[in-house]
Amino acid sequence: MDLTREIAKRKTFAIISHPDAGKTTLTEKFLLFGGAIQTAGAVKSNKIRKTATSDFMEIEKQRGISVATSVMGFEYKGRRVNILDTPGHKDFAEDTYRTLTAVDSVILVVDCVKGVEAQTERLMEVCSMRHTPVIIFINKMDREGRNPFELLDEIEEKLQIQVRPLTWPISQGQTFKGVYNMYNKELNLFEANATKISASLIKIKSPDDPELLKWIPESFCEKLNEDIDLIEGVYEPFSEDLYRDGLLAPVFFGSAINNFGVQELLDTFIQIAPSPHEREAAQRTVIASEEALTGFVFKIHANLDPNHRDRTAFFRICSGKFERNKFYLHTRLGKKIRFSSPTQFMANEKSVIDEAWPGDVIGLYDNGSLKIGDTLTEGEDLQFRGIPSFSPEIFKVLENRDPLKTKQLDKGIRQLTEEGVAQLFIQYGSRKIVGTVGELQFDVIKFRLEHEYGAQCDFLPLRYHKAFWITSDNKEQLQEFIRRKSNAIALDREDHPVFLAESEWMLKVAREDYPELEFHATSEFK
Ligand code: GDP
Repeated sequence: MDLTREIAKRKTFAIISHPDAGKTTLTEKFLLFGGAIQTAGAVKSNKIRKTATSDFMEIEKQRGISVATSVMGFEYKGRRVNILDTPGHKDFAEDTYRTLTAVDSVILVVDCVKGVEAQTERLMEVCSMRHTPVIIFINKMDREGRNPFELLDEIEEKLQIQVRPLTWPISQGQTFKGVYNMYNKELNLFEANATKISASLIKIKSPDDPELLKWIPESFCEKLNEDIDLIEGVYEPFSEDLYRDGLLAPVFFGSAINNFGVQELLDTFIQIAPSPHEREAAQRTVIASEEALTGFVFKIHANLDPNHRDRTAFFRICSGKFERNKFYLHTRLGKKIRFSSPTQFMANEKSVIDEAWPGDVIGLYDNGSLKIGDTLTEGEDLQFRGIPSFSPEIFKVLENRDPLKTKQLDKGIRQLTEEGVAQLFIQYGSRKIVGTVGELQFDVIKFRLEHEYGAQCDFLPLRYHKAFWITSDNKEQLQEFIRRKSNAIALDREDHPVFLAESEWMLKVAREDYPELEFHATSEFK
């Protein structure tokens, strides 16, 4: 059957890393293998180098680039691989977290010199929450990095995941010789070459095969044998089941820029990474092979042309076949909509498609009816879950600078927050508090309000530390808390109450004083 065949072909994933670990470089090598691009340098980094907050051109460029490279699809060895791009910059972390809800697995890139970095930990937390299967690529082995065993220990400890190396480096930096593949019993000799695709693979019987001595010095062979013994003794054998449950991460070593270790990574990835399977909706679990179409919006991108309010909604198909011009039910609004020009993204190109399958991410043109988290079905009342809203870290009051443009400002801020640029909280019925994870967003918002909506605003800083969504079975206690703490209470877009805590201490006190209230640091978007 078409549907099962198409599902089995698909691998939808994201490459994640702390900025500079090599995500862009690795993505590009994958696209080269897939024949999706012909030359290195074709994938643009969507990175914002500066933290300077006044460079609007940079912000605009970022927006332009990130739409172009948001999804990169290519065919490789009979599979359809969909890479979803995630911005590395920490101010765009929310966007990355949401993208992670739309993938079936991830490849995490770690720099062998720097080890586990701040963003690596945060991204991994999101993966763990969702039990996303993770493959780890330890990059830059051509540089003098940390001891590989030490790196594995650090990964296990800081990322709270069991690891199992599948390849092992023979030395590193200046004297890096290559990697030994413990499963295929192959030696992959290192050659610094940024463009070549084929690797120098040498078949050997075991790590103590005398054949090895032809290629690498004796002392390195001895060390390799010792290391392999240690690995076999210390690490559990690789288990595909544990990997798929997100409990065990296979580890590969290589050098993305030298195209080294990349093919092994990709080949193993297409073998073991899960195809689209099932997904939780509020009402039930949806299986990818169900005939009827279901899917959800995880990202919205406004048109770069300020004269057009069109937006592109990124829609992840969860089950069934998507068809152009067919009517689907927008479950939040309870109305039928259809799309005449759904687009698919192939590396740097965009094209209109007639159909798409589970695992695919397509772009839907929309003039404002789709929000992040919205579900489309063939008639069933479903709502996909798991698109969380994390507590912002910076809060500011939005002040209108031009009273004649109140309407434009209201509309603008509503639409921008629907796109997920920031979160909006309303206090005392009308005071607008904007929450973000980075300063950069305030500049983006200010700039876009002015250029796209003709509204001018100021942001006044607030001292809040975090927002906590509050729930309780004890409605009286909840009401009392809201009444007593009115200056620290606001409503989110769905009118759910949140407590804006000035410090961890304030939260602790509130928890003690109101034991029947629950304070949540994340919420579902719905
Ligand atoms: P991203 O921020 O994670 O996307 O990182 P990039 O792919 O842009 O890489 C950051 C820098 O590291 C760039 O200057 C790359 O050329 C460099 N780089 C990437 N892979 C390697 C590698 O294997 N070895 C070395 N020495 N440098 C690398």
